[in-house]
Amino acid sequence: MAEQANPFESLQEQIDDASAHLDVADDVRERLKHPERVLELNLSVELDDGSLERFRAFRSEFNGDRGPYKGGIRYHPGVTRDEVKALSGWMVYKCAVVDIPYGGGKGGIVVDPSDYSAAEVERLTRSFAEELRPFIGEDKDIPAPDVNTGQREMNWIKDTYETLENTTEPGVVTGKSLESGGSEGRVEATGRSTMLTAREAFEYLDRDIEGASVAVQGYGNAGHIAAYLIEDLGANVVAVSDSSGAVYAEDGLDAREVKEHKNETGSVTGYDGADEEFSNEDLLTLDVDLLVPAALENAIDGDLARDVRADVIVEAANGPLTPEADDVLTEADVHVFPDILANAGGVTVSYFEWVQNRQRFYWTEERVNEELERHIVSAFDDLTECYESLDLPNFRTAAYVVAIQRVIDAFTDGGTWP
Ligand code: NAD
Repeated sequence: MAEQANPFESLQEQIDDASAHLDVADDVRERLKHPERVLELNLSVELDDGSLERFRAFRSEFNGDRGPYKGGIRYHPGVTRDEVKALSGWMVYKCAVVDIPYGGGKGGIVVDPSDYSAAEVERLTRSFAEELRPFIGEDKDIPAPDVNTGQREMNWIKDTYETLENTTEPGVVTGKSLESGGSEGRVEATGRSTMLTAREAFEYLDRDIEGASVAVQGYGNAGHIAAYLIEDLGANVVAVSDSSGAVYAEDGLDAREVKEHKNETGSVTGYDGADEEFSNEDLLTLDVDLLVPAALENAIDGDLARDVRADVIVEAANGPLTPEADDVLTEADVHVFPDILANAGGVTVSYFEWVQNRQRFYWTEERVNEELERHIVSAFDDLTECYESLDLPNFRTAAYVVAIQRVIDAFTDGGTWP
C-alpha cells in the first residue's frame, strides 16, 4: 500500500474535522476520540508439531453509549493496536450513521492464517474466544468477521463461549453460518450496501449508473460482491484487482466469471477475458466514473490522490483514503461516499442476525435485503440533507456530523456517573 498513515490518527482527525461543525464541548469531543477499553493479549497456542507459538491479539471497545460494542475480528500480519483502535472507532460512527443500536468495537490477531493448518487456526480462535469470554455477550460486546475471518471462525467463537458459559446464546457473535444461527443475506451485505450507496450517489449527483465505468480494488468478500451487484445495475466493471495485481477490459469484465477464476487459481490475474494486466496503483488512477476501494486502509495517500481520475469514489474498505487524500479529492471535486455508510451493510445485517437470534425467529433473504435497503437509503438521505443544510465540504464530514451528534445525544441523555 501507499503511505502508512496511522489509522488511529486518521480517525481522530476525522472526528476533529466533523466536530468543528457541531456544538460540542472540548471534554466531550475528547471522549469521542479515545477507546473506553483496549484488551491486549499474548495467546500461547500449540502447533501441530507440538511446539508453542505466541500470538499478539487485541480487542478494543471504543464506545458503548448507543448499545453493546460491535465489530469484527481481523487476522492479518499487519494488525496493530492502533489499527484495532481506529477500526473500533469507525464502528461506533458506522453504527450511528445507519442508526442501529450499537456502540463500536474491533479485534485482531497478528497472524497470516494461510501459514497455519485449519486445526491450528481453530485452536488460536478458541484461545482468543476463551480470553474474550468475560467481555463478550449479546448485551455486552458482539464480534463478527473481518479480513481473513468468516463463518468458520464465528462458529468456533460461539461454540467456545456457549460451552464455557453452559448456555445457548447465538447472538454473542454475528456472521455465523446459517446452521449455527446466521442470517440470510449476511455474506452479501457489505457488497450490497456498497452497491446501494453507489446507486443512490449516482442518482443524487444526477448521473447514470447504467453504462458507468467502474474499477474495484480488492476482490475479496466486499469487493467481488459489490462488483457483481453494481454490474447488475447495468454498469460496466472495467477493472478489478487483488494483491496479485489488476485485470482490465475496456468493454467490461464479467465480475462473476473473474471471481470463479480467482476461486480456481487464487488470484484475479490470468483471467482470459482481460485485455491487459497492470498494477494496483494503475487501477486506482484509472479514468473511470466510479472507483470502489475494497482492500485495506491507506490505499490512496495524498500523492496518489493527485493522480486519481475517477469522478465518484464509494468506499467498501474501511479507511482506504488518508486524511490528506481526502483533502486533495475534496479540492478536486471528486465525490467520496464514505466507508461508514457504504460498507455498513455488514454490520446492519449483523444487527438483523442478532435480532433474529434473540427472537429465535428467522427472516427470509427477501426481508433482509428489503430492511437493509431501507436502512441504507434512509442513512444516505440523512447524510445528504446534513451535507446541504450545513454546507459541508464533503460527504465524509456529513456522515461524521450525523453520527457524532447521535452519539453525543445518547451520552447526554444518559449523563455521567459517578
Ligand atoms: P477479504 O480478505 O475477503 O478481501 C480483501 C481483498 O483485498 C483480497 O482480494 C486481497 O487479495 C485484496 N488485497 C489485499 N491487499 C491488496 C492490495 N494492496 N491491492 C489490491 N488488493 C489487495 O476482506 P473483506 O472482508 O472483503 O474486507 C475488505 C475491506 O472491507 C476491509 O477494509 C474490511 O475492513 C472492509 N469491510 C468488510 C466487511 C465484510 O463484511 N467483509 C464489512 C465492512 C468492512
